Amino acid sequence: MNWRDSAACRSEDPELFFPIGEDGPSQLQIERARAVCHRCPVVTACGSWALRSGEYDGIWGAMTAGERRALRLWRKT
Ligand code: SF4
Repeated sequence: MNWRDSAACRSEDPELFFPIGEDGPSQLQIERARAVCHRCPVVTACGSWALRSGEYDGIWGAMTAGERRALRLWRKT
């Protein structure tokens, strides 16, 4: 079974996880998406996959694209 089969976001609007930015009005949307991730049983697998695959856009594993970029840069140092 793939981790995606247990994703809490399967029943959510996918648009929720793709805010147009990471500040200002997008903050509320990001927090709503994170609330789904925080009750997701596969949050660790999802975040790991997004980091490994270099997923550029969207919220995965409760992390925004900017947070994942920062984490990847930090891991390289
Ligand atoms: S952690 Fe978030 S984006 Fe990833 S599968 Fe779960 S609900 Fe979806």
